Amino acid sequence: MNVMSMQRHTRKMPHSLPEGRAPLRRPGAGLPYLDAVSATDSMEHENQRLSAYEHQVKHAFDRIIPCVRKLAAIQYEEDFVPLASERIIDELDLTPPTDVLQKAWTRQLDVKQLVSHLTLATYYRFVSGVQHVNPLAHPQCADFVSFLADCGYHRMDITPCADGRLAHVIRYVLRLPAEVVRRKAYAGAAFAVEDNVAKWAEVELKRQQSAPGTNTKYLKVVAYHFSSIDGEREGCAAHGSDDRKAAEFGRDALLGFKNAVAQGFSRPDAVEGLLIGIDTATDSIVLHTPDLEGSIDIDSSLQSTDCVGMSSDKIRAYIGSYASHSSEGMQRLVSQLIENNLAQLAYVKTNHDGCYPDVGHAERFIGIGVGFDEIQLRNLMYFGYLTTIEEGAPDVDVGLKIFKGLNQSRGLSTPIVIRFDYYGSVAGARERAVARAGRVADALKSRYPDHFAAGDIHYLQLSRDLDTRAAPEFLGSNLPSLTEDNLS
Ligand SMILES: [Zn+2]
Repeated sequence: MNVMSMQRHTRKMPHSLPEGRAPLRRPGAGLPYLDAVSATDSMEHENQRLSAYEHQVKHAFDRIIPCVRKLAAIQYEEDFVPLASERIIDELDLTPPTDVLQKAWTRQLDVKQLVSHLTLATYYRFVSGVQHVNPLAHPQCADFVSFLADCGYHRMDITPCADGRLAHVIRYVLRLPAEVVRRKAYAGAAFAVEDNVAKWAEVELKRQQSAPGTNTKYLKVVAYHFSSIDGEREGCAAHGSDDRKAAEFGRDALLGFKNAVAQGFSRPDAVEGLLIGIDTATDSIVLHTPDLEGSIDIDSSLQSTDCVGMSSDKIRAYIGSYASHSSEGMQRLVSQLIENNLAQLAYVKTNHDGCYPDVGHAERFIGIGVGFDEIQLRNLMYFGYLTTIEEGAPDVDVGLKIFKGLNQSRGLSTPIVIRFDYYGSVAGARERAVARAGRVADALKSRYPDHFAAGDIHYLQLSRDLDTRAAPEFLGSNLPSLTEDNLS
């Protein structure tokens, strides 16, 4: 089904949404009535919903520092512990870490530990709540899958840079369903080709079983980034803010993956690559589409900003003239991506006057491991996808460098969530996930001994069974105050 025509016939959304409450979860929302609303109305409702969610989640993290500042000011008062506990409950809706508070009058309030504790506990509460509400559910998930198939692809897989300013690339920047688009982030978008070939083979096997005889391709997207504001400092840290280098690296990585599948499986046409550049100051995109042989020219690009105000038909015509070297299906796909991105440009215009106030890094924590699918928000988490520290060391190094500026420079630690999700239905999967989380924590300690000695890294280890909607399982932490009891 054509996604473009679907956008004009969406379910009627309520005009004002309670914060964080997805309209699809409201009673009666599943009723199969359709109401013709204009595409503009539909986009505005979606933007309001996404904005309410972003504001709610980020606000929960941003209340922590002001709250701790107030606590630090009253730490020697006689009734500090009950007073501070009450404030933590009222203002942050968290269980107070009583041990930390009780030590304040004899020593000094351990602000470093308290901020890390509250940050990691806020993350835990957020991720536990998301499992029940699914606030970013995409209203047209199935339609997107059939649209993708019409364009000639059975799977879309995106590797953005691990930079937190790209964490919202799927659900916000490109307005795609996170439920069906695979995301694996790496510093500088330097994805592991072997890991991706294994994923390709797994998907291909399933495809041949479920849809034999079809000839669709695996679409691999690399999203590099640059900044139209302060670009020499705020580009991709992994590529020294050299935009051209970031784009060339993405192009070469796509080619490397395509060739690996071609050579390893004698399937030269199985993979198609698409390179996207994202301006992290405005969320506008540039697209470098492949020719029929799969070659990508960095110097040839389509820009979403050129299409502002255009109708769907005009966008399609624009793509037809500037991407005539690409397949018909690729042209349809990128037309849709540009149309989707225009909704995000309207979002940034409405909420931030067209340019984010936090042009630079403002991540609240680092997440490493396998999981984190619910993080689809900009500048909340620096993300490193890895199964071992050895493999992901460059990503973690970049992350810690970013947090040196963000947190250590003001006397705070770097909060790290180590998380490994698994499918409980697979025998031994939980045990393997738990063992990995343990190994990664140990490897962190041996790779960054100075950080640990100075108390500059506080981590929380979690794992979650993806076969259930249960909250993640608490596995451990190097913060003695962070326990299973005060997370629940
Ligand atoms: Zn980057």
